[in-house]
Amino acid sequence: MAKPKTRQFQTETKKLLQLMIHSLYSNKEIFLRELISNASDALDKLRFESLQNKKIKFDDLSIKIIVDKENKCIIVRDNGIGMSESELIENIGTIAKSGTSSFLEKLTGNKKKDSQLIGQFGVGFYSSFMVADKVEVLSKSAVDSSSATLWKSDGGESYTLEKSDHSEHGTSIVIKLNKDNEEFIDESRIRFLINKYSEYINFPINVQIGDKDEERVNNNEAIWLKSKRSVKKDEYDEFYKYISHDFNEPLLTIHNKVEGKQEYSNLLYIPKKSPFDIWNRDTPKGLKLYIQRVFIMDDASHFLPLYLRFVKGVVDSNDLPLNVSREILQDHPLVHSIKTALTKRVIDSLRKLKKDDPSQYSEFWNEFGLVLKEGPAEEPSSKDDIAELFIFSSTVNENNQINRSFDDYIASCKSDDKKIFYCIGETYEACANSPHIESLKKANTEVLLLTDRIDEWLMTSLAEYKGYELVNVAKTDVDSEPDTETLNKDSIELIKRIEKVLGADIEKVATSSRLVDSAVRLVISKFEPGIQMRKILESAGQSLPESKPLFEINLKHKLIKKLKSMKGKEFSNFCKFLFDYAVIAEGGSPKDPSKYLRQLDKYLL
Ligand code: ADP
Repeated sequence: MAKPKTRQFQTETKKLLQLMIHSLYSNKEIFLRELISNASDALDKLRFESLQNKKIKFDDLSIKIIVDKENKCIIVRDNGIGMSESELIENIGTIAKSGTSSFLEKLTGNKKKDSQLIGQFGVGFYSSFMVADKVEVLSKSAVDSSSATLWKSDGGESYTLEKSDHSEHGTSIVIKLNKDNEEFIDESRIRFLINKYSEYINFPINVQIGDKDEERVNNNEAIWLKSKRSVKKDEYDEFYKYISHDFNEPLLTIHNKVEGKQEYSNLLYIPKKSPFDIWNRDTPKGLKLYIQRVFIMDDASHFLPLYLRFVKGVVDSNDLPLNVSREILQDHPLVHSIKTALTKRVIDSLRKLKKDDPSQYSEFWNEFGLVLKEGPAEEPSSKDDIAELFIFSSTVNENNQINRSFDDYIASCKSDDKKIFYCIGETYEACANSPHIESLKKANTEVLLLTDRIDEWLMTSLAEYKGYELVNVAKTDVDSEPDTETLNKDSIELIKRIEKVLGADIEKVATSSRLVDSAVRLVISKFEPGIQMRKILESAGQSLPESKPLFEINLKHKLIKKLKSMKGKEFSNFCKFLFDYAVIAEGGSPKDPSKYLRQLDKYLL
């Protein structure tokens, strides 16, 4: 037999191994769950591969767990797809997952937080080094005819590889427990853990303790195929933790068995917490797809829209062809109709949660509201259904409480105008005290206060809700009524004088009765992008013509009266000062801030 070859772990793998060994993870027992789940995947893969490759033959697929008390070893063995030498190097020596570096960067050093991150990241096989001195993997591929390989490592810098004459396909993983973790060799502990982590595995799991006979420990019926009545909450929750690598229980569980024209089952979960990589484009998303109980693929993203990408779960179809590929799924009419039904079920459950438990709903909203806000643009045909789930801050609330929906607004709306007013700003305070909403507040008209980066884009793409026009208070159509009452010769002249000074920066000057406490405000045209949209477009590299707002003045305001009495340089300086003042109220900054401050000093002294 050839001498073992030694190879170095990839740098990122080394880092992860060190984290594992130095026990970032408080919940060490999950190593067994990870190994059982890898074994189950390997069996699924073999069964799937055999559908296309008739040369692949196999006996009953199963997982075996051997507890060798004498040598303090736990062995997890499967007769699944196995790995060739190069696959072992590829899969176990390196971490191919996208987002590994961003995951490593996110670690904080705080044990509890980090262990949750690791859970979400799903370090899988490496978790065995939390409890082991030494790990050996003996594997033979069922697909190619190369010989078996024995992989060994103590979790340090390197691992060794050697050929073996083992002839059966599958993988055997030997965990040699370290001194601190010998407790795992205890028979009742092991049985308890296997039971806990294997109930939802769709293959027989047999346990052998020492020389005793093998014993089957799980009952092997897929949880999503069981009737709702026969599944307990604990089982649902445990299955969720298994597929999601999340420590928390799910927020909502959605289980359906559909019969009739199309037959399928779905078991979907809405998590409590957003995963750390939800904004990463490359993060795998989607459901586990089974067809007639055969595992087909992870991350089948065709069954839910992107704006519901936080939903985890399984879909098992009886009607799709077993040899589907991602390309076929893309255009398959059955997939399309399942997607429509699943989307509706998720939206309905969220609607129900919103109605029955507003405080839980608001926690959900904190985690996933921003993702949901992508919905109307992605699926214009169901925009009202999605928008029904939105909640916002509002002028009817004392403080920044996010709990008003469009329907709440409509229900308490006193006017027949069929308008929903909203104000967009950088912060809650900027919105709540914005000059744009002064007159509406005075008239007791509700205004929704929006501060998410995507809000202007969202409201523009929604345009209306159940026949109510969505109106941005910073735009002209709200406030185009001129203040004719007070518009005398004097005022007309004042307007002309201001326009002469500010002509380059503004479209024109108008007077307004809508301002109450503020002297001036900037109003943009209905068809122009607002400040937020402008920022988004500019950061995406678009160059936009400079916006020329309308400069509205409040003739009743002291500052405007003062302006009226000024002349020459004093007048033009004060005009420019008031213009900057309005820019600041919009969350912008004056072109020359120090000049603005010097002016301010002068007026204060
Ligand atoms: P994950 O399971 O999340 O992909 P792991 O680190 O647990 O991450 O495993 C890495 C890869 O090693 C798996 O994706 C799989 O290809 C391979 N692997 C692990 N265990 C087995 C096994 N028992 N049989 C075959 N392949 C395996």
